[in-house]
Amino acid sequence: MTATTPQFSSPAQSDHPQPALQPADLAVEVAIVGGGIVGLTLAAALAPSGMQIAVIEAQTAAAAASRQRAYAFSLTSADIFKGLGLWPQVGPHICHFDQVQLSDGDYGKVVRFLPSDLGTDAVYYGAEHGVLMAALQGAIAAFPNIHYLCSATLGTTHDYGECTVAEVNTPEGNITVRSPLFVAADGKGSSLRQRAGIGSLGWRYRQSCVTTVLEPEHSHQNTAYERFWPSGPFAILPLPGQRCQVVWTVPHAEAEAILHLPEAEFMAELEQRYGGQMGQLRRLTAPAMFPVQLMQCDRYVLPRLALVGDAAHSCHPVGGQGLNMGIRDAAALAEVLTAAHQQGHDLGSLTVLRRYDRWRRLENWVILSFTDGLTRIFSNRLLPVVVLRRSGLWILSHVSPLKRLALRLMTGRLGRVPRLAQMGRQGYDSAL
Ligand SMILES: Cc1cc2nc3c(=O)[nH]c(=O)nc-3n(C[C@H](O)[C@H](O)[C@H](O)COP(=O)(O)OP(=O)(O)OC[C@H]3O[C@@H](n4cnc5c(N)ncnc54)[C@H](O)[C@@H]3O)c2cc1C
Repeated sequence: MTATTPQFSSPAQSDHPQPALQPADLAVEVAIVGGGIVGLTLAAALAPSGMQIAVIEAQTAAAAASRQRAYAFSLTSADIFKGLGLWPQVGPHICHFDQVQLSDGDYGKVVRFLPSDLGTDAVYYGAEHGVLMAALQGAIAAFPNIHYLCSATLGTTHDYGECTVAEVNTPEGNITVRSPLFVAADGKGSSLRQRAGIGSLGWRYRQSCVTTVLEPEHSHQNTAYERFWPSGPFAILPLPGQRCQVVWTVPHAEAEAILHLPEAEFMAELEQRYGGQMGQLRRLTAPAMFPVQLMQCDRYVLPRLALVGDAAHSCHPVGGQGLNMGIRDAAALAEVLTAAHQQGHDLGSLTVLRRYDRWRRLENWVILSFTDGLTRIFSNRLLPVVVLRRSGLWILSHVSPLKRLALRLMTGRLGRVPRLAQMGRQGYDSAL
């Protein structure tokens, strides 16, 4: 480490020895801050290595699992969950997308992505936060080497060279957690990223997305719709139990206005954007609004620190990529750390952590650029751009290799696929 390398914790004073561990304190190989889906996927992927792992989650376990959100869940995320042995818990409670329809406003040409394009059982899946969290929480509970600290917050952190010692406030009192590696899985506003002073590139879109859950009159037929309007993309994703999740992106002011519309007017606006394929739609949840931004950290690692998931990047919701990128981060980092652990290497050293940074940062750039490009091209009203993108849609639906390439990118099957996903896919395919 050079003198100029930034650190995420303050150096301990040289005359201060490491504090002795008290009975409640923990000495672990990896301390994960943030027990959302990405943090718990990392913990579950590391667990079989036998390493001691701490997960430090600010909310109660129930609150962390209770977010009302459904995700477009990619084939590779599904393969990772299969690799973790969690498909029996997740598979029966998710929805298969048998078709994804992509269209440009009221232009009649529709690009249809089908499972047969990739030779899979679905194009994508629709999975709810609670289902994924319940499976992960159940999995880590079975491992005595995972210490799941809930309602816990990180206090001061001190760097002792070969490890970091953190004060952690838990409902039972303050403890210290000592580890050679802390992982920030604490989401978009990551406090660990901020402490480390890691810079990022990005911008806020002048858009927000409005979400709600609907019950359609007719079956959704496991079809997902992504329709691009000049004001922003509009998606309806099928969910189990004949429900649909709406992710409706529009400029901020419009999102504010939509959010406060009486229900009947809200539904009329929504039907105008979407059409009437599923008959009458009934709103099941109050609409919620989320600002949209693109963010990519300059680096995912520092000595003794790695960033995963939204702590490292965030993207436009178009194409449902954010969580899927984070799950791949978790699987990749677990693979790098497990190999380093087997070889007796220092898990928090830059030599080890850079393997993860090189693997994931570039791949995430590709997705971030792709989703950014999509929203810019499809919200442009200039005639030459409109003609160009509509020709692009025609080409996409008629040139199979191009369609397959786009699909492989969006489903996480392009680039270096984590071993856990390969194992999950092979194991599952051979069991069929
Ligand atoms: C409307 C909307 C729709 C979306 N749809 C999709 C989709 O279809 N597909 C997709 O792939 N992605 C989607 N995303 C993106 C997705 O929600 C995120 O990428 C994903 O939730 C990130 O997961 P994470 O575990 O990194 O962070 P989070 O889900 O934010 O989890 C962070 C966890 O860390 C905890 N925490 C926070 N601070 C601390 C702290 N200081 N100490 C300890 N714990 C802490 C939190 O309590 C939380 O449990 C969508 C996003 C939005 C807004």
